[in-house]
Amino acid sequence: MANENSLLKLKNVSKFYYNNGLVATGFTRISLEFNLGEFVVITGESGSGKSTLLNVISGLDTYEEGEMYINGKETSHYGESDFEDYRKTYIGNIFQNFNLVNSYTVYQNVELVLLLNGYNKKNVKEKIITLLKEVDLYKYRNTKVSRLSGGQKQRVAIARALAKDTPIIIADEPTGALDVQSAKSVLKLLSEIAKEKLVIIVTHNYEQVEKYATRKIEMHDGKVRDDILLKETDSYEVHPVEYKNITKLSKLRLGFRNTFNIFYKFILLFIVFIFMISAFLATYSSLRELEYKESMYGYNYYFSNTSDKRLVIKKSNKTSISEEEFKSIESLKGVDYIEKDDILLDTSFNVNDDDFYFWGSLESANNITSVDYGRLPKEANEVVVSGYKYDYYLTDNQDKLFEAKLNIYSDNGTAAYQNVKVVGIILNDDKEYSGSDIFYVKDELINELRLSINSSYSKIKININNMMHNSDYGYLNVIPNKNVKKGEVLFPDNLNYLCSYTWCLNKDIIINISNLYYDEKIDLKVTKLYTDYNFTSLTGQKENTSYNNSIFISFDDYNYLFNKDTYQSSVFVD
Ligand code: ADP
Ligand code: MG
Repeated sequence: MANENSLLKLKNVSKFYYNNGLVATGFTRISLEFNLGEFVVITGESGSGKSTLLNVISGLDTYEEGEMYINGKETSHYGESDFEDYRKTYIGNIFQNFNLVNSYTVYQNVELVLLLNGYNKKNVKEKIITLLKEVDLYKYRNTKVSRLSGGQKQRVAIARALAKDTPIIIADEPTGALDVQSAKSVLKLLSEIAKEKLVIIVTHNYEQVEKYATRKIEMHDGKVRDDILLKETDSYEVHPVEYKNITKLSKLRLGFRNTFNIFYKFILLFIVFIFMISAFLATYSSLRELEYKESMYGYNYYFSNTSDKRLVIKKSNKTSISEEEFKSIESLKGVDYIEKDDILLDTSFNVNDDDFYFWGSLESANNITSVDYGRLPKEANEVVVSGYKYDYYLTDNQDKLFEAKLNIYSDNGTAAYQNVKVVGIILNDDKEYSGSDIFYVKDELINELRLSINSSYSKIKININNMMHNSDYGYLNVIPNKNVKKGEVLFPDNLNYLCSYTWCLNKDIIINISNLYYDEKIDLKVTKLYTDYNFTSLTGQKENTSYNNSIFISFDDYNYLFNKDTYQSSVFVD
């Protein structure tokens, strides 16, 4: 394995987290070399530094000490954009929760990554088909991802990671969410891939992977305890692909692909809009944000409302859109109506429990006047589901559905978890099942969900015990709760280590949030700590779905942070 020109080499690399003069260790003085052809499995107890190591290798996190060499080149001087290039050229990430665009087909999910990496739509078809055959999903190419099983979704995620043609594929617990059979097929696929690439995965289930791996690295307490060669591998030279930078025009085209089917129609309208309100620049800036996310994680979320009448607007100087400006747009010829805060148009929701499963978009109950079964919603936690007439979830067992306690949460999973019940059903007679339902709810719930989605798109930093901590990788989450008083914070016991050897209870905490449009902060105080045991009694919520990384605050304070002006809207034209 030792080789002057290793693909990836770590020499005494350490990752620390600084807490008020005290240092928390991600891992210390790790020296490792990796080459093409290896299928490396990293194991070790929780907290031993596995994820931190993968993040450093992926260029998602920086390191403080030592040197990491990529293809023989040093990286300790790398800045943000160098690592961005590195991730683009070298790293394909596969995430446990898939990070797919659920409203897109299998084909479109793979295509999206390629388009965002500068490929031309005309030239990618063959490549995608080859990839889909490779992961055994060709048959499902036109199926929406939301209809797939967990194992199939993971294979889409793999196809997407492969599409980038990077020499290194990295996955943190890729089979964590899969049943035994799907896990096997995913591992087998990864081991095939590893014949030509470097595949590094973290798992807590070594037995499952043993058969496929070529090398096992066991971590313990931030160090490598064991590094065992399981199978000999051939090593060969690396030729990373060079990416074209995606041009401004193709970015625009990509953005409008969803907005207008006919490119010329868009050009015409675009010109009209540019002239009339030159302060607005449509979609391009959304694409910039998407591009950023894509480069960070190797995936992105996208517009899911693809009406050809929709035009996304925001101001190029990123200020909010005023009532006057709305009025002047409304009075333009051809404008049908404006969806002022359009974030919900692009957010899909799941409504489910163990027996029922619905997926679709959210609309105001003001848009309907009657239902086919049941009644209209009266309370904020009541939903009318409108779906396909042959959907057995809606037609069989309606009594059971009306009694069920369901949860509603957004597709990206991080936001908007609420308990709801179905009180009404609308059946539609489309020729085919579109795969997506509509949930009609009171505006009150819409507002709550909208805010929590805004918060999921914001970066959260907290300052506690005079130390700043950030949420770059989804590690902190702020959630409103009725039981928390204004000015107070219910803090996870789990994150007590942020206060070093002291205790976070009774500490002042500053929550800073920032997103594309604004920065805001608020001074609060930690008045209670929660654990798995007292979670329900403190929050009034049944299950702790927040992975112990959520900071609960009052609705007042939450509104202060997230209920801001409108920055992005959608204009529907006729
Ligand atoms: P594993 O993935 O093996 O469970 P991690 O890599 O997540 O372990 O964590 C390794 C160590 O680094 C743990 O002690 C953890 O507490 C610490 N750590 C991880 N992230 C942070 C952070 N953002 N701030 C402070 N310490 C952290
Ligand atoms: Mg981990």
